[in-house]
Amino acid sequence: MPMKTDRLRRFTLEHHGIRGSLVRLPETWRRIREPGAYAPAVARILGHAVVAAALIGKNLKFDGRLTLQLQGSGPLHLLVVQCTHDLGIRGLAKCRDTQLVEFGGLVQPGRMTVTVEAGAKQERYQSIIPVEQGSLAECLGAYYRNSVQIPTAFWLDVDDRHASGLMLQRLPGSPAGNPSDWDVVTERAGESMPASLAEQTDEDVLSRVFDGQLLRVFKPHEVAFRCSCSDDGMRRMLQLLGADELHEIIAEQGRIAVRCEFCNRGYTIAENEIPGLVHGGATTLH
Ligand SMILES: [Zn+2]
Repeated sequence: MPMKTDRLRRFTLEHHGIRGSLVRLPETWRRIREPGAYAPAVARILGHAVVAAALIGKNLKFDGRLTLQLQGSGPLHLLVVQCTHDLGIRGLAKCRDTQLVEFGGLVQPGRMTVTVEAGAKQERYQSIIPVEQGSLAECLGAYYRNSVQIPTAFWLDVDDRHASGLMLQRLPGSPAGNPSDWDVVTERAGESMPASLAEQTDEDVLSRVFDGQLLRVFKPHEVAFRCSCSDDGMRRMLQLLGADELHEIIAEQGRIAVRCEFCNRGYTIAENEIPGLVHGGATTLH
């Protein structure tokens, strides 16, 4: 079967104790943008977060899910991207009307939260850092430096058709990995990174950025848009409103219609279904 367009490829720099990933997500990015009708500056930040979530999510060592979130009192007051260990991604952003286009102006003052839900018990690990940098890539670099304490660098490249990115990370405890090596490799990578990752093949990007270095490149992994919304999940959310409020909505609107903001899937419920819903009965949403 031919390889899908959306894929992530890992590699290691054998002599430097550094690993990396290169990801391309044109189709996933198209699906995530579709329901939102985002302004270009907002779409750019959301696209960066989608690429970053794939790059970080692939490092999950167990079944689980990574959530990357920006929250604050700037115009872009909420952004959520989720990536599962097997690279299913969804995301959305909410922005008040604004003319601002810079990352700082849109997001600050705000905070970035990285949450990992792991294993069958869904144990949660969460880090929260203030957003003080001028881009999401720099913000993530600060998160890895301060919270994870593993030097990590991101290059995120997004336009209205493509979302691509490259991450480098020093392997913890690797004998070959010394701090000066890291600085030299990342500086050189930054200087030779093509302006657009989307226009070059994986091989071209890697040979250009890591010219003359011994690279071990692994088989690509597929990445896909995937939303975890479901009848059950939507039913649980509606149950929280309670019978009175549900009847009130029915009286006003004739039915309850809910739309998943991640994937735009619609769920509706009629009045005669409310008792079953409120009492946890086997109501079916259509
Ligand atoms: Zn959904």
